[in-house]
Amino acid sequence: MSDSTFKLKVLGAGDWKTTRERHPACFVLTVGTKNMLLDCGFGAMHQMAHYGISPLEIDEVWITHFHPDHMSDLIPFLVHRTLEAKDFDGTPNKLTLRGPSGLEQRIGTLFSVYCADAVRDPGMVVEEIQDSMPFAISGCSANMRMIPVRHIPGHESVAYEVVLDGRSFLYAGDACAPLDGQPKLFQEALDCNTILLSAGATKTAGGHIDFDTAISWIGVVGGVGVRRLILNHVPEQCFEAAKDFARGATTAGRLQVIIARDGDAYQLT
Ligand SMILES: [Zn+2]
Ligand SMILES: [Zn+2]
Repeated sequence: MSDSTFKLKVLGAGDWKTTRERHPACFVLTVGTKNMLLDCGFGAMHQMAHYGISPLEIDEVWITHFHPDHMSDLIPFLVHRTLEAKDFDGTPNKLTLRGPSGLEQRIGTLFSVYCADAVRDPGMVVEEIQDSMPFAISGCSANMRMIPVRHIPGHESVAYEVVLDGRSFLYAGDACAPLDGQPKLFQEALDCNTILLSAGATKTAGGHIDFDTAISWIGVVGGVGVRRLILNHVPEQCFEAAKDFARGATTAGRLQVIIARDGDAYQLT
């Protein structure tokens, strides 16, 4: 991989319910020579094995929030990585975990609950940042920042924005609709070339912008830079309806709307 590599692999495009086609949230973002795991929901480890990705290939894990469909395979991932590192011929790369405040405490609690402290990597770095200025991702020429996101009352989330060589990508994660008081996300990040956003079924689903509002809204008020909107987390019961709506909203040369499936891969342009 070269320093200009910028791509996304979908390991889990679904919501809480695992289906044959879609597992809960998990993605691999490759930026230059670095691999970031975006969320680590249940089934993530199975999906990594299925697509031939070793946990040792992952440099950073970025968690949006603490719901199990985004985080429940994190301890299995960390334990697997530690065990694989013992057999690794060489020095494994150092792992950085990023997420909302409270991440480090939760990881400690989970290791304790699973009686797995003996296989915790002592060199692992945990960075909790709620709202950051852009900063460089070590080891590559990209900048990233974390943006606070409103999800459900009492449980905030974060979005991750990455810029590489003038190309930009935003993983918004689970976010409620813009009119429900999003603090910054929908005002500041709408010029990203590619937006990956969790979408729900209806306005009453709570905590998630519904898919038709998301598509219509970004199509109308999205910044001129938005070329592609990828929706994950779409519930099974409205998956076909969302695909139809996305097809209708795709406008040649301006905006491509995609309802994600496991196994999808995108070059980020
Ligand atoms: Zn959630
Ligand atoms: Zn979720």
